Amino acid sequence: MTKEATIVYLDYAATTPVDPRVVDVMTPLFRQDGDFGNPSSGHIVGRRAMEHVERATGQLAELLGCKESELVWTSGATESDNLAILGAARYRADRGRHLITMPTEHKAVSDVFQVLEKQGFEVSWLYPDHTGVLDPAELEAAIRADTQLVSIMHVNNETGVIQDIEALGSICRERDVLFHVDAAQSVGKLPLNLASMPVDLLSTTAHKVYGPKGVGALFVADRPGCHVEPLTFGGGQQNGRRPGTLAVPLIAGFGEAARIARSEMQENRAHLQSMRDRLWRGIRDMDGMLRNGSEDHSFPGILNVSIDDVEGESLLLALEPLCVATGSACNSKSQAPSSVLRALGRSDLLAQSAIRFSFGRPTATAEVDFAVARYREAVGRLRDIAPEPAP
Ligand SMILES: *Cc1c(COP(=O)(O)O)cnc(C)c1O
Repeated sequence: MTKEATIVYLDYAATTPVDPRVVDVMTPLFRQDGDFGNPSSGHIVGRRAMEHVERATGQLAELLGCKESELVWTSGATESDNLAILGAARYRADRGRHLITMPTEHKAVSDVFQVLEKQGFEVSWLYPDHTGVLDPAELEAAIRADTQLVSIMHVNNETGVIQDIEALGSICRERDVLFHVDAAQSVGKLPLNLASMPVDLLSTTAHKVYGPKGVGALFVADRPGCHVEPLTFGGGQQNGRRPGTLAVPLIAGFGEAARIARSEMQENRAHLQSMRDRLWRGIRDMDGMLRNGSEDHSFPGILNVSIDDVEGESLLLALEPLCVATGSACNSKSQAPSSVLRALGRSDLLAQSAIRFSFGRPTATAEVDFAVARYREAVGRLRDIAPEPAP
C-alpha cells in the first residue's frame, strides 16, 4: 500500500494493542530503579517483585471469580491448553483413557488431542450443529465409564460462537469427568464466575484483553481429583506446577489488564455489539452473503462472513489497508479451508471466502464504515475480474 493509506485494524481477536495504563504498570518493573527482582529471592528486592505478582494474582482471581491459589501463570493460552490437557490426561490415565473434544477447537487444543491419540488415548470429536453450537445431549451421549476429560472452548476464535459452558460442565460434573475450557477469547469480555461454574480447568491469555503477549494463566479448580501433572521441571516455582522464574512485568501487566477489563466490561461489550451490528447492517444485503455461526449465541466482538464466488486470500489482499483475518490468524499459513467452518457444514469454496472481522475498545464508527465500503468495493472488483471458477 501507499504510505499515506491509513491502516484500519479489525483483527482484535488475533491480538490487541496493550492498554497505556498496562504499559505504565509494566515499565518500571524492567528497570534498575524499579522492582526488577527475582520473586524467588528471599531478599527485599525479591520480595518487592513478589508483591507485584501477588497483586496481579488477586486481580486476575477477581476477574475470574476464583481463589488466588487456583491460578498458575504460564506463557499464554497455548501453554495453558497444553498444561491442562496433557497434564490432566496423564494424571488420570490409569483411571481411563477416553477423552472428548470438538473439531472446532483452536489448534492449541486440537493438536494436543492428536498427540494424545498417538499415545494410546482414545478421543471422541463432537460436531456442532450448522450454527456452531454443541447440543449438550451430544456430550451426554458421548461420555463413557472410562472418560476422564472433556475440553470445549467458551467463545470460538473464528466465528464468535458461544458454547453453553454451564450446561456442558454440569454434565461432566455429574459423571465425575474433568472439564477444561479454553477461554482465551472470553476472559475479560464476558462475565465468568468460576466459584459457581462447573469448570475444572480454564485457559486464559493476556494479549487478547489489552495485556502483553507472552503471558497467560491456567485456572486449576481446588477440588479432589482435579490436578495437572507438570510438563516442565525446575526450580519448584508455583508449587512445581509450572516452574521457572516468574515473568514479573508481564504478569503485573496481565493483572492490570484484568482489573481494567473487569471495571469496564459492560460498556466495552455494548460498544463491540454496536460496532458489529453496524458492520453487518452494512453488508448483509450483498448477493451471496452468508453469516457464519449462530447469531443468537455469539460474542459481540466477532463477525465471520462468507460470500459466493470470491476467494478469501485474494479478498484479504484487495481489502488492504483494512486488516482482517481469513480463517484464524493461527491457521493463516495453511491454505486449507478452515476446519471450524467445515464443521459447520460450509463447502470448501464458501469456507475459503470467509473473512473474520473482530472489534475492540478502540474501534470507531468511521472505521466500521470504511470496512463496509472497502468490503463491498473489493468483492465487486474481484467478481468483475475473475469470471473463471476457483480451482
Ligand atoms: C489466541 C488463542 C489461543 C492462543 O493463545 P496464545 O496466548 O497466543 O498462545 C488459544 N485459544 C484461543 C481460543 C485463542 O483465541
